[in-house]
Amino acid sequence: KALFGAAALNEKLVNQPGSRARLETPAAVLDLDLFEHNIALMAETCRKAGLNLRPHAKSHKCAEITRRQMASGALGNCCAKPGELLALLEGGVHDLLLSAPIASPRKIDALARAAAAGGRIGVVVDRADLATAYAEAAQRHGAVFDVLVDLDVGLKRSGVATPAEAVELARLVSGLGGLRYRGVQAYQGRVQHIDDFAARRAANQEMGRLLAAMIEALREAGFAPEIVSGGGTGSHLLDGEDQLLTEIQAGSYVFMDEAYGRVDMHGRGGPEFKPALRIAVSVIGHSSLGFAITDGGSKSFALDGPPPRVFLNGELVGRIEWCGDEFGRILPSDGQAALPIGTVVECTVPHCDPTINLHDILHVVRGADLVAQWPVEARGRAD
Ligand code: PLP
Ligand code: MN
Repeated sequence: KALFGAAALNEKLVNQPGSRARLETPAAVLDLDLFEHNIALMAETCRKAGLNLRPHAKSHKCAEITRRQMASGALGNCCAKPGELLALLEGGVHDLLLSAPIASPRKIDALARAAAAGGRIGVVVDRADLATAYAEAAQRHGAVFDVLVDLDVGLKRSGVATPAEAVELARLVSGLGGLRYRGVQAYQGRVQHIDDFAARRAANQEMGRLLAAMIEALREAGFAPEIVSGGGTGSHLLDGEDQLLTEIQAGSYVFMDEAYGRVDMHGRGGPEFKPALRIAVSVIGHSSLGFAITDGGSKSFALDGPPPRVFLNGELVGRIEWCGDEFGRILPSDGQAALPIGTVVECTVPHCDPTINLHDILHVVRGADLVAQWPVEARGRAD
């Protein structure tokens, strides 16, 4: 038994509805106005390009965000890992595509049970034994998986790399019980973060040539793909150009981050996605050199991207120029004095996907008010 009722003493302080400026920190903050702008902009862009949208949940891991994406027309979500998928399913999301091949028989079985329990679950395969394993598990549980043949169109991570292999797998999938062949996945991850627009377009066109050859071979063999899924935030404006993809898997656009802030989306300007995810941190002291020190470091931000910008009441006041595990140091913008102790500031994030994986709760704000707290159901689920 804990002494002195330590369990109660150990409760994490819960933020109450009300002031955005008085959050207990570090806290993940979602600016609702910017978030809604991002959701609407991507939905509109895809609609105009005649593309479906199946956003990637790896970027947000939050069932409420999935629901809002679907309310604006998305088909469902992609998930990177079975654990992420199962957590969102438990959170009430029923239409999910696992966008990577897996190897664990227990995970394959868990996915089949989830499909039998009413989830509409899609999977990708890039090898025969995986297709067979999915088919056996599906039949064991009386379930059906939607299946996409995973194509390697340049990422060199997963997927078959030749038209002949794609046809062979499509034929196998089409003949197996418990599987419904729907088409292909062609995700070119290397294209997404080419900052320069013309260079990114050229790389995406290169991908398009590989993909077109694969689609043509499938069509000739009688396996014309009904779904061609791929693309991301960086390529979404280009993916409509060659009319090869039928749906876009963009993820980061909901939150944005400093890494994507460097990507020139349009070439000559256009509506931009806004940094909707921030990490609120507090100034807890000043270093001997006079810099403000905050209470958020690498346990609150993923640092694999350009450094966070620091905002106070919507105004840029500096950058986080150094992080330890639990602390950050603010380099103030020109002429700004070090912020007083106790000040709560909001920081943009270097890279949104691994950052949200560090937070249980999204503190949803509108203007100056904390209006909701959404659980990040799949946080920590990298399994
Ligand atoms: N699809 C797949 C298979 C991915 O791995 C990713 C991200 O890594 C995405 C889509 C989403 O990309 P982004 O966050 O760049 O929009
Ligand atoms: Mn990412």
